[in-house]
Amino acid sequence: MTTAPIANGTATLTPPSPRTIAGRAHDAEHPKLFQRVREQMDQAAEAVGLAPEVRKILSSPVCEVSVNFPVRMDDGRIEMFSGYRVQHNNVLGPFKGGIRYHQDVSIDEVRALAAWMTIKCALVDIPFGGGKGGVQVDPATLSRREIERMTRRFVYALGANIGPGYDVPAPDVNTDARTMAWIVDTYAATLPPQERYRALAVVTGKPVSAGGSVGREKATGQGVVDLIEMWAADKNCTVADLTYTVQGFGKVGAWAARILKDKGAKLLAAQDVTGAIKASGPTGLDADALAEHVKKTGGVAGFPGATAITREAFFGVEADVFIPAALENQVTGETARLLNVRLVAEGANGPTTPEGDAVLCERGIDVLPDVLCNAGGVVVSYFEWLQNRGGAAWDAAEIDHKLKDILTRAYGRVKEMVESKSLDWRTAAYAVALRRIEQVYAERGIYP
Ligand code: NAD
Repeated sequence: MTTAPIANGTATLTPPSPRTIAGRAHDAEHPKLFQRVREQMDQAAEAVGLAPEVRKILSSPVCEVSVNFPVRMDDGRIEMFSGYRVQHNNVLGPFKGGIRYHQDVSIDEVRALAAWMTIKCALVDIPFGGGKGGVQVDPATLSRREIERMTRRFVYALGANIGPGYDVPAPDVNTDARTMAWIVDTYAATLPPQERYRALAVVTGKPVSAGGSVGREKATGQGVVDLIEMWAADKNCTVADLTYTVQGFGKVGAWAARILKDKGAKLLAAQDVTGAIKASGPTGLDADALAEHVKKTGGVAGFPGATAITREAFFGVEADVFIPAALENQVTGETARLLNVRLVAEGANGPTTPEGDAVLCERGIDVLPDVLCNAGGVVVSYFEWLQNRGGAAWDAAEIDHKLKDILTRAYGRVKEMVESKSLDWRTAAYAVALRRIEQVYAERGIYP
């Protein structure tokens, strides 16, 4: 199952060869994220008596690519950027996972995010492994043209380390459909002309007009809402009865909020990098209008009619559901004590620290863990990849139906594991995923 970085042989452009690295100085910013994933996997492995060799294999990524590459700025200067692609495991299928642009991106963070993708794909039972990528940059400091040149040069630097049947990126924090379109275009340019037709499936999350799938843009938010609906049904209530708060009003948070609005739920507060706001009146915040405001101004702050509040006050707002949809490490021991909700539905990856988990458990707050709750994105990415490879175009109803079906089955498997082994939902979700991976290793064995 080990896969070495692929060298670019026949490329029209010849990207530099990738390098494998062990660590970076800025790891100190996220000192323990991958270690946290390992501990989460160990806990679940212990609970279900997982084969020790599977635990051992998953304790390190298959491959780590680190690239440093030059980009010409608008004023003519050359700046160097560092980017990563970590390929954690591919026993179930090609590596799959987003590309993030953020100043705090580090090899440890990307490693953790890649491992979470391995667990997520196995849990929802789609034929992908886990990968993730990122560039350490604050995109707010770059112009649109600089971001485009940086994206293209990053793809060129990654070379054949990504590919439609090998490793398939997607949008993540600060990247979107437009970024994916640039990736396809650049990747296609590195292929011989006869092979360029393959390039479309190198990424998912493309604009619909450029080979993307209907439903992909909202898919992660849709999945979050589908899962909240399943949780609500188990509590004998409906989504229309619920109030909620959202942290992060980007692709995941805004879509989850807008779909919840359509179903009659009430948004009470929102927070992002620009600040926190609370509804001033009894009708709540209008999620569609707020999404428009964020598009225009860059954040939730200053939304007309809302009251500005502090981050602490935001965490303390009384509601049924809290949806973290920003970054890792937001629900800590401290903020979990402030929460006044019945459910944390994790739209973000890794939003809850182990201390946060312990406090939520002690306080009887339910958690729909990230690997289940935000899996809608990768499921519809899988649909997009299938459509690209088969030359097909599915309609929105078919995609929504197939997505709900996959998530309902995954929810059922986790619930059964929770009940049969008396586990919390996060450990149970990992246990289901690890069992799936164990099954494949048992059947395939290890070469030679
Ligand atoms: P995005 O860039 O579209 O939005 C990120 C949001 O987080 C923005 O509203 C931003 O203001 C906010 N934010 C950033 N730093 C913050 C901070 N310190 N405090 C509060 N808010 C902050 O990104 P996205 O694609 O919506 O991803 C959000 C999360 O969901 C990430 O954890 C990502 O890995 C995860 N996720 C995304 C997808 C997807 O399909 N995009 C799929 C699964 C999981």
